[in-house]
Amino acid sequence: MSTPIPTVRTVKDLRAEVAKWRASGDTVALVPTMGALHAGHLSLIALGKQRAKRVVVSIFVNPTQFGPKEDFKRYPRDEKGDIEKLAEAGADLVFAPSEAEMYPPGFATKVSLPSLTEDLCGAARPNHFDGVATVVTKLLLQAAPDIAIFGEKDYQQLIVIKELVHDLNIPVEIVGAPIVREADGLALSSRNAYLSAAERKTAPALHQVLTEVAKALAAGEGCDAASSAGRFKLEGKGFRVDYVAIRDPETLRALFGPIRGPARVMGAVHLGSTRLIDNVPTKPNTRA
Ligand code: AMP
Repeated sequence: MSTPIPTVRTVKDLRAEVAKWRASGDTVALVPTMGALHAGHLSLIALGKQRAKRVVVSIFVNPTQFGPKEDFKRYPRDEKGDIEKLAEAGADLVFAPSEAEMYPPGFATKVSLPSLTEDLCGAARPNHFDGVATVVTKLLLQAAPDIAIFGEKDYQQLIVIKELVHDLNIPVEIVGAPIVREADGLALSSRNAYLSAAERKTAPALHQVLTEVAKALAAGEGCDAASSAGRFKLEGKGFRVDYVAIRDPETLRALFGPIRGPARVMGAVHLGSTRLIDNVPTKPNTRA
């Protein structure tokens, strides 16, 4: 049995706990989550433990990042199970605020990065990244950690958060963590729980196809041809494709022609009523 993990629900209590750590000179990592924790989330906590003395994990299903027709109501929630997993993983504190604590009546602020969020996932989810940027800004200011850890699974989100921290001079290091996958390549996601047995069999093809696109790019194929081929293959497997895009891994700028340096192959698809995203890195093959 692992030691029970303290849970705080107000910003005041969160700050009081963090202040105690600070008083004894401990460094702090923040891992923001929406709960329904899986091994991908737990890898972020493991990284937090390597990089800081204390790890605080937030669990908050943020309503402002869901569109009106999205899955906010049915998003999986299991706070008790999550807290047990976090105790097992060695996290030090859970911050699980209510909606009223995060968005009290009269809340009026929005953090928005239009140039980074109008395309890719932002095209299909118009207000999503404003919701993410606003809640993450709040969490960073509430917990005031030394580092905050985000998965590369949500690659556009990671870049958005790095940019807002830079632009707003928030004194925190944003650390990206590699994607944790099932044995068949499917990226772990709380939303995988929505997949039917048949969809679950199809789902790993997203990663397979993005990997094939990455290999084609590495071998010198142009971005347009490689992404079109990827889209065609995904459609052939029964996905409805939002995008297959090849982007600069730092700026998310669209790339054209054969790649000359590192690139990220990013994809978003629908499988039945479930939206899946994934991405893989690539770079040109260099001849010996
Ligand atoms: P979520 O609870 O889905 O908002 O995710 C919380 C954090 O976990 C985000 O930084 C995600 O990018 C990260 N995450 C989700 N799935 C994975 C995964 N399969 N591997 C690594 N990180 C992940």
